[in-house]
Amino acid sequence: MTLEGNHILLLCGTHEARLLAGCLARDHADTRVTASFAGAIRDLPDPGVPVRVGGFGGAAALTAYLREEAVSLLVDATHPFAAQISRNAWEASEAAGTPLIRLERPAWRAGPSDIWQPVASIEKAVAALPGGARAFLAVGRKEIELFYGRTDIYGLVRAIEAPVTPLPGHWDLVLERPSSACEKERSLLVDRGITHVVTKNSGGTGSFAKIEAARDLRLPVIVIERPRLPATQTVSNVREALDKINIVLSSQSPKET
Ligand code: NAP
Repeated sequence: MTLEGNHILLLCGTHEARLLAGCLARDHADTRVTASFAGAIRDLPDPGVPVRVGGFGGAAALTAYLREEAVSLLVDATHPFAAQISRNAWEASEAAGTPLIRLERPAWRAGPSDIWQPVASIEKAVAALPGGARAFLAVGRKEIELFYGRTDIYGLVRAIEAPVTPLPGHWDLVLERPSSACEKERSLLVDRGITHVVTKNSGGTGSFAKIEAARDLRLPVIVIERPRLPATQTVSNVREALDKINIVLSSQSPKET
């Protein structure tokens, strides 16, 4: 099927977004695709389509972008915790009359032997840790600082790039990506004497090994639930996204530039 004459704006930030960009570049070379990144990570992967980097400047500015760039379809494939850009995408899609598809990987679910404590926010996760805990804090660079006030705990932080504000002196920073090998995650938890794991419910396989490792070690996991987002047509994997993109774009005529 040809989607010629269309312009897809793909909001990136996940592994699935990069896969989707690659599929669109390969299967729909006649379609204009723009991959948009927040710019939080300096070392951006090449998605195989033209890229723009940085915020739009809020929902109104994103609406203007959709109009000026004759975007025929907005695909929100950002992280499940990137709530602001997802809300902006919904608002801009409504205002500009541009269809929106959200690509959101399913949330993790606790298994029978998991010891999970679900919490509604990062702040609640901070409060849920008992004094003296040795916590593996698997949260983003922006959120980690909320834990700094807990000087009564030890924190092990893993990040791709160092947090802007240095960690408390007795905490440790490991600069690497999450491992998909349970054995490696298990060793990390054992070597640092970890008693609690804190994680966002990001879903997907890329960072699930730490949950498996905690399960093996019978460690409690404080799981931060996903933010609520405005309802829109949502798919859970790249295959479904490609099918939905074909359906949506083939049901409308291309916008004039
Ligand atoms: P956010 O709070 O939803 O976004 C903040 C602002 O960044 C947005 O309002 C937007 O700025 C800009 N932005 C975000 N994603 C963008 C994109 N793909 N293209 C253009 N601009 C974008 O999300 P966040 O600050 O990026 O992250 C919040 C949480 O999600 C953190 O826990 C982070 O670790 C996690 N996360 C996010 C992503 C992601 O896809 N963004 C990826 C991995 C992890 P304007 O309002 O100026 O347009």
